[in-house]
Amino acid sequence: MSENIENVIVIGSGPSGLTSAIYLARANLNPLVIEGYIYGGQLMMTTEIENFPGFPEGIMGPELMENMRKQAERFGARFITKDVTKVDFTNRPFTVEVEEDIYKAKSVVISTGASAKLLGLDAERKFMGKGVSTCATCDGAFYRNKKIAMVGGGDSALEEAIFLTRFASKVYVIHRRDKLRASKIMQDKASSNPKIEFVWNSVIDDILGDKKVTSINLKNVINNEITNMELDGVFVAIGHNPNTSLFEGQVKLDEKGYVITEGKSSKTNIAGVFACGDVQDISYKQAITAAGSGCMSALDAEKYLESLE
Ligand code: NAP
Repeated sequence: MSENIENVIVIGSGPSGLTSAIYLARANLNPLVIEGYIYGGQLMMTTEIENFPGFPEGIMGPELMENMRKQAERFGARFITKDVTKVDFTNRPFTVEVEEDIYKAKSVVISTGASAKLLGLDAERKFMGKGVSTCATCDGAFYRNKKIAMVGGGDSALEEAIFLTRFASKVYVIHRRDKLRASKIMQDKASSNPKIEFVWNSVIDDILGDKKVTSINLKNVINNEITNMELDGVFVAIGHNPNTSLFEGQVKLDEKGYVITEGKSSKTNIAGVFACGDVQDISYKQAITAAGSGCMSALDAEKYLESLE
């Protein structure tokens, strides 16, 4: 067990956690980042990012995250590439457990992000990795010249559907309404792609196959009619859930599980515990807003640590 009391532990390593670490490190607070076994957050699973300021030609998601990590490291941030297994914010200093190691800290920044939502069908779990996926960039290349479905009507679904047309012969975008939630620019890009076809007012009722997916049953939500569609893969991009199971009973969460932050700050209901990025963002969920809130969390933590002296 470590006898040290850290100034601040950052839990998570997406754009918010790493921006927090950059600011904390530059403030000489020597932050410890528990980055997770699967580090870097959701941008590690994307391709090109066109809307992060400062990269006029765009930048690949993993490269952006690698750069942020190096930047934090340059100023002295330390990294542990493991998952946090338990936290205790009821006593001070706070306790953060990483498997058998116990770390103590005066303050904590929660930046654990969010994970992909699933449709909730039994068959979806059964065929996960065998024709069902939540990550187009990870699995797209397995679908060369195949027919696939993309479920969702937001920016993620369309962005991933466009990406999948590099491999697939056909991508059906299945949306439960007849209006997309995605931004206009993404709608225009998807609509003009000859490999993409929209299937409106429809949901997947079942996913069928033996060892791998061979077809889906589609339900029209207007007339409840079920039709079978033969295809090879189903990608799901219907939003995310915040990664907060670790913090249940430790900080206040809203009814959807997001960490509640105070006003325009990163403060949680526990003094000294801050939250930034998608784990507390119900509205914007952009890489740049996550990075911005990461900066806020570092400034808030710095002020808090000063107040302890
Ligand atoms: P989102 O905007 O919440 O969209 C989720 C989509 O999935 C919606 O169309 C929703 O339908 C549908 N959906 C939700 N639950 C469903 C279910 N159980 N069955 C069927 N469909 C379901 O999520 P997102 O696309 O992941 O985007 C999240 C945020 O990231 C957004 O702010 C987005 O702008 C941003 N983003 C930006 C970019 C970019 O700028 N390049 C790329 C990706 C994401 P309804 O429309 O009917 O609710």
